[in-house]
Amino acid sequence: MIAPVRPKPFLQPEYCKSCLRCIDACPRDCITPGKTINPATGLVPVELHLEACNGCALCMQACPEPYGLRPETEHPTGAFDFELEDPARIFGRKELSRPEARDQPDDFIPLPACEPMVLKGTYASAVGALLAGCRHVFGYPITPSTEGSELMAKILPKVGGHFIQAVSETAAVNMMYGAGGAGVPCMTFTSGPGFSLMLEGISYMIGAEVPGVFVNIMRGGPGLGNLGPEQADIKLACRGLGHGNTHAIVLAPGTPQEMLHLTMHAFELSFTYRNPVIILGDGFLGQMTGVVHLPALLTKPGRPAWAVCGDREHHLNLICSIHLAEDDLEAHNRHLNAKYALIAREEQRSDAYRCDDAEVLVIACNTPARMAKGAVEAAREQGAKVGLFRPITLWPFPIDALRKILPTVSRLVVVEGSPGQLEDELRLALSHAGIAPPPITPVQHYGGVLPSQDEILSAILSTYEVRS
Ligand code: SF4
Ligand code: SF4
Repeated sequence: MIAPVRPKPFLQPEYCKSCLRCIDACPRDCITPGKTINPATGLVPVELHLEACNGCALCMQACPEPYGLRPETEHPTGAFDFELEDPARIFGRKELSRPEARDQPDDFIPLPACEPMVLKGTYASAVGALLAGCRHVFGYPITPSTEGSELMAKILPKVGGHFIQAVSETAAVNMMYGAGGAGVPCMTFTSGPGFSLMLEGISYMIGAEVPGVFVNIMRGGPGLGNLGPEQADIKLACRGLGHGNTHAIVLAPGTPQEMLHLTMHAFELSFTYRNPVIILGDGFLGQMTGVVHLPALLTKPGRPAWAVCGDREHHLNLICSIHLAEDDLEAHNRHLNAKYALIAREEQRSDAYRCDDAEVLVIACNTPARMAKGAVEAAREQGAKVGLFRPITLWPFPIDALRKILPTVSRLVVVEGSPGQLEDELRLALSHAGIAPPPITPVQHYGGVLPSQDEILSAILSTYEVRS
C-alpha cells in the first residue's frame, strides 16, 4: 500500500514573526533561522529546506500565526506579490479553533519554617519578590538601589529566572512591558534619576494595563543630587507617572520587614488591577538592616487569560495603549478612572500609633516615621496627647482612616525628608474629602538630611505653646 502524500509547508514570509517555534517542532531539521530582513515587516522570517520533509505538519501546528506556515495545497495560484495584504482575502477566512484562554490561578506552597533573617531593605525586597514568584528582573544599576538587582542577578539564574542588566532605565522599563504583557511577574530596582527615565514606559504600561513592580529607593535630587535618603519622588510617584491619565498604587514601607511583605503584596496588587505598583523606599531604608520574618507561604504564579504569551490559547490576545479614535480613548480613560476609583476605595493602608486620644497628630512615612515614633513616645512621657499616623499607601492616600482620627486633633505635624511633597499629598486628600485641615506644622529637611527625633519633639511641644 502506498502511503498518501502529505502536503509540505510553504511560508508566507510577511506573516512570519520569527518566533522559531517551527524550528523546534520539526523533527527533520527542515527549517532554519532566517538571515534576511523582510522589507515589508522589518522581521527576519525563517527559511525552509524541504528536501527531507515528510509533510508531518508539526511545524504548521506549532506556528502561532494563522497565515505563517500553510500546507502547499493551499498555495495561492497565480501571482502573489508578497505585499502585506489581508490574508483572509488571499486564503479565505480561517476559522481558528483554539481552546479558550482561562485564568490559571496562583498556587501557594508552604514554606518550611526557618529562623528570622537579618536583611537590608533592598535584599528584603528582593527576597519578597522571589517568594511572590518573580523570576524576571530588569534593571540598570543606580545607588542606593543596586544591591537589590545585584542579589537578583546572583539568585535568579539558580532558580530558573532571568536578570537582564539593560543598557538604560528606558530599556529596562520596556523589558518590563514585555514580560508583564506576557503575564509573568516582573520587577525593577531603581532610584530617582532612573525612575524619571522610566516614566514614559510606566505610562505605556498603565495605558496597556500591564502589571509590574517598581522598587524606587529614593535619593536626593533634583538632577543627580546625591545618595542621601531624601523622599524626593513622592510627587513623581503619586502625581507624575508619565503622560496622560495615570495612577499606580504607591506603597511606602518603613522597615526591612515591610520591604519584604509589601513587595510580595505589590505583585498581588499589580495583577489584581493589571497596573504597575510603585514601592517607595528611601536611601536609609534600602541600606538599613533589620530582622525579617519570612511568610508561611510562597507563590507559584499562574497565568492570566489576557496574557500575550504566544501559545495556542493566548495567541489572539493583544496588549497596546493606542486608541486612535477619540471616542475609544475616552472610553478607555473612563475604564481607567473606574479602576482608580476602585483602588482608592479598596486599597488604602495606614498605621496608627497612640492616636485614640491624640490632640496633636504627627504624619510621616518611610524612615522619618521611625524618628517620629520616638518623638511621639518622648512627648507622651511629657504628658502630650500625641499620636503618629503613618500612610502606607501614599496613593491612594489613606484618608478614610485619617478622617476617623481627626475629630480629636487640633494640630498636625507633618514630618518628611522632602520640601513638602508628603504635605501636598495630605492637603490634596483632605481637600478632595472636603475636610478643612487643622493648622499644619511642617518639619522638613531635604538633600538627604532627615528630621531628628529632637526636632520633631520640639515641633510637637511647640504646638502646645501656640495654643496656650
Ligand atoms: S512538515 Fe514536518 S518535516 Fe516538513 S518541515 Fe514541517 S515539521 Fe519539518
Ligand atoms: S512558527 Fe510560524 S511565525 Fe514562528 S518562525 Fe515559524 S513560520 Fe514564523
